Amino acid sequence: MIRLHDSLQRKKVELEPREAGKIGLYACGPTTYNFLHLGNARPLVAFDVVARHLRVRGFAVTYVRNITDVDDKIIRRAAELSEPTDSLTRRFTLEFQTDAGQLCCQPPDVEPRVTEHIPEIVALVERLVANGIAYASEGDVYFSVPSFPAYGELSHQPLDDLKAGARVEVGEKKHDPLDFALWKAAKPGEPAWPSPWGPGRPGWHIECSAMAEKYLGRNFDLHGGGIDLAFPHHENERAQSQGANGLHTFSRYWLHNGFVNFNGGKIAKSDASQKALFDRAFKLRLLLERHGGEAVRSFLLTTHYRNPINFEVVAEGDDVATAPLRFPGLEEAERRLEYGYLTLERLNDALAVGKPGGAGPVAPEAEGWLDRLQSALDDDFNTAEAIAAHGEALALANRILDNKLDAPKDVKRRTLERLQRELAVAALELGLLEAAPATWLAAHRTRRAAARKIDAAHVESCIARRAEARKAKDFAQADAMRDELKGLGIEIMDTPRGTTWRVAD
Ligand SMILES: [Zn+2]
Repeated sequence: MIRLHDSLQRKKVELEPREAGKIGLYACGPTTYNFLHLGNARPLVAFDVVARHLRVRGFAVTYVRNITDVDDKIIRRAAELSEPTDSLTRRFTLEFQTDAGQLCCQPPDVEPRVTEHIPEIVALVERLVANGIAYASEGDVYFSVPSFPAYGELSHQPLDDLKAGARVEVGEKKHDPLDFALWKAAKPGEPAWPSPWGPGRPGWHIECSAMAEKYLGRNFDLHGGGIDLAFPHHENERAQSQGANGLHTFSRYWLHNGFVNFNGGKIAKSDASQKALFDRAFKLRLLLERHGGEAVRSFLLTTHYRNPINFEVVAEGDDVATAPLRFPGLEEAERRLEYGYLTLERLNDALAVGKPGGAGPVAPEAEGWLDRLQSALDDDFNTAEAIAAHGEALALANRILDNKLDAPKDVKRRTLERLQRELAVAALELGLLEAAPATWLAAHRTRRAAARKIDAAHVESCIARRAEARKAKDFAQADAMRDELKGLGIEIMDTPRGTTWRVAD
């Protein structure tokens, strides 16, 4: 049984799919006009785990995540860069997909682009107009919030409160301050498509209603996004879809991930140095380059998706524009991954030789950890607890490999075999420790060596000279090489596949 926190009911409920064994999942994707920041990475990783876990639990999941490729921000940015909007959005769609891959996210099943769904969007707006809850006004079309009494249910805001904060912006031709645009008349030079109301383009919210319906139907199971999207974006999506298709349509459950807070979340807007630090440090590309995507993913998953995450940045110097930056949370995440991959490498090496353990008992310590991991994910996708269970399994593998577990040899062998199988399941669910250990460890070594300005070629040559010296039984020379490497901050490890190295902590 899967339980999840539904933002609409504001409590944890049992997941009851609309159709047994199937889950339709929609998550709002990026607006493709710029590179991502760390906050954008969080929903990608959070809903990737949701899809992965539901699949491991046997559901046929259809995961839809849209690409917003027409929007005010895109039009503004394209004008700044003197670049056509479609070239800008294609470029940043590719950059986004690269980053999502680095974060070890599986691609969604459908990744629809707004500009390829204009007919569906126009048809949905026409239905809303026909139902009397949308109206055309000088080439724009607006959703009439006063005509839809359920408005505000998702974000739990009474209409009167919303009214108090609403304004009509200059140039908007709406009847009520709460009304929002479904279709915007084209201004000169903007991308535009023909419509019954004249040339124009969709408002932001309508795309998700139209594309969710096309790929998941009028009723589906889960809708996800960052908590900052709950109002107005998700409230508006729901109003549009229910306004067109009837109450009780659209997503049955709503999942919202929490914020990533920068240095405790206490940045005063007036604090120029904190603002400058934020602008430098919150860029996802910088973090991927410094610590690798899997460490960013692991950092994000060590907190339950609904809770805020504190992202700590340390500037090692007074001038925040130039001081070297450190990210203690990511350093810690990368260390944990290195430990995990070294463990997997040792485990694989140990099992590559000798005879299989055959049938029989395993050490009792190996029982139950995968159940605990999966039960944690069943309980509102609690990745923090799941990662703790994962860590127990890795620790047990090391105890056995270090000969610190008192058990018969065949029991230890079977236990390692079982750990190897079950760690692969955990990797699939969490999207952690999925890479080939040698590949991840080599990339990690390259990053660390670059950060310490260590010449990897020189390290490799010292290791080769040490091997030659050992072969020639010149142990003094072999020891000298080891000492030289130690002096450089390099640890070497002799494995069945030869000597490998790591940059010492
Ligand atoms: Zn959306």
